[in-house]
Amino acid sequence: MQDITPNNIDMLVSLIGRAEHITVVSHMKPDGDALGSCLGMYHFLGLCGKQDRKVVLPHRTPYYLNFLIGKEVAGDILFHEDKAAAAEDAIRRSDLIICLDFNAFHRTDKLEQVLSDSTAEKILIDHHLSPDREKFTLSFSETEISSASELTYQILMQTPMIGNDAGRLPEGSALALMTGMTTDTNNFSNSVYPSTLRMASDLIEAGVDRNMILSSLYNQYSETRMRLMGHVLKDLMTITKDGVAYIVLDRKTLQEYYIEEGDTEGFVNLPLSIARVRMSLLLKEDGDKVRVSIRSKKGISANRCSRLYFNGGGHENAAGGRLYIPKDIAGISEAAAYIEEHTHRFMTDENI
Ligand code: 5GP
Ligand code: MN
Repeated sequence: MQDITPNNIDMLVSLIGRAEHITVVSHMKPDGDALGSCLGMYHFLGLCGKQDRKVVLPHRTPYYLNFLIGKEVAGDILFHEDKAAAAEDAIRRSDLIICLDFNAFHRTDKLEQVLSDSTAEKILIDHHLSPDREKFTLSFSETEISSASELTYQILMQTPMIGNDAGRLPEGSALALMTGMTTDTNNFSNSVYPSTLRMASDLIEAGVDRNMILSSLYNQYSETRMRLMGHVLKDLMTITKDGVAYIVLDRKTLQEYYIEEGDTEGFVNLPLSIARVRMSLLLKEDGDKVRVSIRSKKGISANRCSRLYFNGGGHENAAGGRLYIPKDIAGISEAAAYIEEHTHRFMTDENI
């Protein structure tokens, strides 16, 4: 935890103390860790007596996270895709912006410009590789950690308001941080460190209802999601001779199964249970681009593969990116050939 120093904690506390209009921001297509870390911070700001605090996200959150958005929060959360002017205005009016779970402004899609233009003090709390530190007054960047939610937890624990006692975290913070950590570790199956389990037990001791979190996250999906999963595993998964599994979901298939944002959560991990699969890719057609999720086993860098061939990045074993139509491929029907060609080069060329 190189950045969690007494000096940096003092600076965080004084930046928050001085600020009157605070906005908390996370990345496009926000997931459990994005919303969890934002709400963890949002509720802490409430404890600090900050009345004017907003959470601004580029897009709506998936429906399985709705249990985190109570009445109090709903009035203070702005999704840019729904309320662009209000979201941008909140950022423009801010004297402090706290950026969570992303490493560079371009990860916020249409918020990039307004964030770059803002002269407010900015704090980064993130666990991705290559953070854009120069853009921030204060950065907490840690890659050897489960999630931005865990990093936020470790930071808040060091503040005088919490004083290393998880029981003093606002209830909403504790619930949100536990949720974000749970989703980013895929329910404790990857990126789990001793500190992650300590955080979990401290939060459970402090009263967080883990059963409620699990049933909200994993037992409320639509039936069509599971039917699509069957179709994917039986007919749509290809495994190359290099041990790369890939699944392409075109618009037609997504429509046929009434797939909503968040419904394909976890699909990309499924092929990794096969012994000979070393890397897995999930592609989803989305307008004039194809969204790409990559997961890899130890020794293969999903981050590097994404940076090289999929206009993205992320963590060593979990990354994301996108293919642009028609820049990278002429259409979705060319996605399979693109993956086969580029992952073959990636898996076999020692110079890469
Ligand atoms: P997912 O497959 O769940 O969309 O993304 C996996 C991980 O990679 C997440 O932690 C996500 O934040 C990160 N990620 C996704 N796309 C990008 C990208 O374009 N750049 C970077 N740096 N990280 C990304
Ligand atoms: Mn994360």
